[in-house]
Amino acid sequence: MYGYDIFHEDLMNGLINAVRGGVNAHAYIFEGDSGLNVENAARLFAAALTCVNAEIAPCGSCPSCVEAKADTNPDIIFSKPDRDRKTIGAKNMRALEADVSTKPFAARRKVYVFTDASIITEEAQNAFLKTLEEPPEYAAFIIVTENADLLLETIRSRCVIVHFPAVSENEVRKYISEKYPQESDRLDFLAKYCAGIPKRADDIISDESFETLRKSALDRLPMLLTRRGDDIFELQSYVEENKDDFARILGFWMSFLRDVLLLQTDAASGIINVDKRDALRRICAAYDPKKTVSMLDALATAQKMFARYVSPKAVTYWLAL
Ligand SMILES: [Zn+2]
Repeated sequence: MYGYDIFHEDLMNGLINAVRGGVNAHAYIFEGDSGLNVENAARLFAAALTCVNAEIAPCGSCPSCVEAKADTNPDIIFSKPDRDRKTIGAKNMRALEADVSTKPFAARRKVYVFTDASIITEEAQNAFLKTLEEPPEYAAFIIVTENADLLLETIRSRCVIVHFPAVSENEVRKYISEKYPQESDRLDFLAKYCAGIPKRADDIISDESFETLRKSALDRLPMLLTRRGDDIFELQSYVEENKDDFARILGFWMSFLRDVLLLQTDAASGIINVDKRDALRRICAAYDPKKTVSMLDALATAQKMFARYVSPKAVTYWLAL
């Protein structure tokens, strides 16, 4: 859309039309999964806000639009941490406050884009509040985040929150089949597994260990359900060998077991691991749905335990028992 790689054309058209009609706020929160190209949506919106031809913004041909596309527009400022830091602190915000008071170079407006709200410290948010309360007429702010709740309520309440939802399975399918024609064999699986976040496919496809790990996790799933001493021992050594991937292993088990439950309850159309249907059916036949449900609960608890630094081996032992 306008040469920006984004997934939410309708939503962006709505926002852009408002800008053309002169209806715009000073501050926006763009909330959505990073796999949805929300940052590109923010770049496009910044171009629309700064374009000198307001009624057809972003016109695509004025200097402001051309520079916006190349990320060289001096009136679109991407807020970044200092080089030796990982967060945006109060010091950065005070510098921003000083910068806001100088007028745009050439554009209609001066737009500040925060590409990741999770790195803005609470102190910085408090420092930002003053700017946000009384910005000059030409200033606009776009805060990109996966979760608006990470921001202080005082910030949120002063921004228009635009939520970028997951897209349809069909749209994910289109994205994958256009970008990765060689993946036609596992297209069905990928389109479902990405759960509406197209760019998750990029991570999976570029990760050569994904399928190996997924298969090894599936092979060991029955062991998790048997509670036999030998199996528990074998499982523990498996997770020990793959301890860096334990979060993903738990995720795979969760996804497989959900599918098993769907098969057991005659809701097979909802399954994600469509390419592993036979293996799932075998597991499904050997255990009853009650057991599947209790194991799913246990897996959810296991994920929490692991997040609290319980070792993979200990979590697996607890799970198997
Ligand atoms: Zn323009």
